[in-house]
Amino acid sequence: MARPMSGRIFIVWLIAPFVFGGENQFLRFPGGTEVEIIAPVLEPGQIILARLVQAPDVKKVSIRFGAAVYELGPMEQALETFTLIGLDLGLKPGPLDLEMTVFLRDGRIEELKHRVLIGDREFPVKKLWVKEEFVRPPPEVQDRIQREAEILEMAYSISTENWLGEGLFERPHPGEMTPNFGEKRIYNNVPRSTHSGVDIAAPYGSPVRASNSGRVVLARDLYFSGKTVIIDHGLGLFTFYCHFSRLKVSRGDMVKKGAVIALAGSTGRSTGPHLHWGVKLLGSRVDPAALLSLVLPE
Ligand SMILES: [Zn+2]
Repeated sequence: MARPMSGRIFIVWLIAPFVFGGENQFLRFPGGTEVEIIAPVLEPGQIILARLVQAPDVKKVSIRFGAAVYELGPMEQALETFTLIGLDLGLKPGPLDLEMTVFLRDGRIEELKHRVLIGDREFPVKKLWVKEEFVRPPPEVQDRIQREAEILEMAYSISTENWLGEGLFERPHPGEMTPNFGEKRIYNNVPRSTHSGVDIAAPYGSPVRASNSGRVVLARDLYFSGKTVIIDHGLGLFTFYCHFSRLKVSRGDMVKKGAVIALAGSTGRSTGPHLHWGVKLLGSRVDPAALLSLVLPE
């Protein structure tokens, strides 16, 4: 058997920036590996899909983007052939690099930098009126808020390595979806956190469904979001649903796309019955609308 070639092939290959995406890009490595980058819109809150097209002798491909590392690879290496990269809501406009590394079976490494230009996105400001205890929480609930922040962090910390989703993402409820992702919110005249999801009109008690298949990693009552469900779809992608009147699933449950997970309500910091739907992708807050328009490989 031939000895694996030692040493690294270091290639820095800068591709001209493309504004606002719109086109698929095929990145070809010298060894024949080909990765397709699909980015319909390059703005905060959007999703980039990276797909392995050609993978002769590939063990693994890793993509570093900001602080996160995404991995993909051939099926026989027990990896998914695609990965989803989240552009966080708070991302500053300007150039950013996807630092890609191909690990070949013979030990060689190929590297490539693909520069993308993140566009600017204006988010609206909205004034809302809620019970005072949700704007300035009383001292006796501070411990609870702190504990729940840790519980949420735990829920998002471990994602299934393989993709659990089945086909396209679907709306969790047929009600009208307000495109209010990223809205800067002022509660009772006090500026508070940015709205990191969308709101869907959902009458009290109406069923809310899993937008795709996955594993329930949280199903409980929380101070700010009320009765809440989080589903892990694998590869670092989580969907978040809240303000429920009643939960229909428990932590650890495997749910199928379209399964009823809870009944709509107005628990937590809410102004009336509705569904709040959010998406997190390896720590990045992304727009559920971007998830709905995502065409995933079969
Ligand atoms: Zn909301």
